[in-house]
Amino acid sequence: MTMPSFVHEARPSRVVFGRGRRAQLPAELDALGVKRALVLTTPEQRALGDEVAGLLGASRCAGVHAGAVMHVPIAAARAAIQAARDAGAQACIAAGGGSTIGLAKAIALESGLPILALPTTYAGSEMTPLYGITDGGEKRTGRDWRVLPRTVVYDPDLTLGLPVAISLTSGMNAIAHAAEGLYAADASPIHQLMAAEGIRALAGALPRLKLDGRDASARDDALVGAWLCGSVLGQVQMGLHHKLCHVLGGSFNLPHAELHTVMLPHALAYNAAAAPQAMARLAAALGSADAADAVNRLAELQRGLGVPTSLRAIGMPADGLDRAADLVTAAPYPNPRPLERGAVRALLQRAFDGAQPQ
Ligand code: NAD
Repeated sequence: MTMPSFVHEARPSRVVFGRGRRAQLPAELDALGVKRALVLTTPEQRALGDEVAGLLGASRCAGVHAGAVMHVPIAAARAAIQAARDAGAQACIAAGGGSTIGLAKAIALESGLPILALPTTYAGSEMTPLYGITDGGEKRTGRDWRVLPRTVVYDPDLTLGLPVAISLTSGMNAIAHAAEGLYAADASPIHQLMAAEGIRALAGALPRLKLDGRDASARDDALVGAWLCGSVLGQVQMGLHHKLCHVLGGSFNLPHAELHTVMLPHALAYNAAAAPQAMARLAAALGSADAADAVNRLAELQRGLGVPTSLRAIGMPADGLDRAADLVTAAPYPNPRPLERGAVRALLQRAFDGAQPQ
């Protein structure tokens, strides 16, 4: 048993949760002292942007900017910053997933405008001070408290239409934040509780969502889980798994949530022996009293959901594995087990082939 020793720091953000809570948006803007807000979303979620604009009314909506794209390309960020400026917006409402919230963060970073987030996936960006902007094929990431949304309205009704396949990988993406939080050196007992409960909620909800994406109670549970997992991501340092996903996503343009889904059991298997307490908590959250079951339980969940299980299946080129191993080991994130290039290269091969995690 290691002795507890920690600093727990959580910055305030207001979280409003419940079906239909989006109707409360005008009151939440009042609470922030905001008169006019720009609504951000993706082109695919334009109808949601328009619905939010309707909730605000013409006097309070500074426009709908449906220009969010995955990984926040610099051109999209510049266009959104300009749109917020032109509209005289005092805040941004990010109605969407990680891509939309990422765009709001790019505006906040430049202008300091507060963000009110209305998340529609399980990615968790709304609970973090982390941002990323892609320029010239490279994603520049950073941490700045100005980009942490001031208010988050979680309305599970908005997730009912999230396609089941995206829901499942997005949920695995959330589980990844909490799983790595369990062995983060800077995690406190509160983080460990949030992580375990977040994993438990999502592991229970995702199989139900696979059967029926309109199961409202499963949507409630999954979104609570996503909130908890996102909070962990925002407050503690991530390890090997997030480093692998950052490198593979950034250098080979692989889809974010699917990538997390494929890599997680492999990264956890790599760390299992070096993080026995985390594995015990993970196993318990997945319904087993035996720490040795943790990775298998996760792999079983993954297989049961029918989500992608190999890098090959999501577009990774076989000849990129060596470069990926170099990049991951050149500037590693803190991790319970030291990163050895040979072992990381072998892990990548297993993930590429969809082989058993070891
Ligand atoms: P996304 O926001 O790109 O959404 C995926 C697709 O689903 C989009 O086409 C979107 O319009 C659509 N969609 C989203 N919600 C929907 C809904 N309820 N109904 C119907 N369609 C819906 O996907 P994501 O996985 O949420 O976000 C990925 C991005 O977020 C990546 O760029 C990733 O790096 C970033 N991210 C950042 C952080 C952070 O802390 N900064 C955390 C997690 C993810």
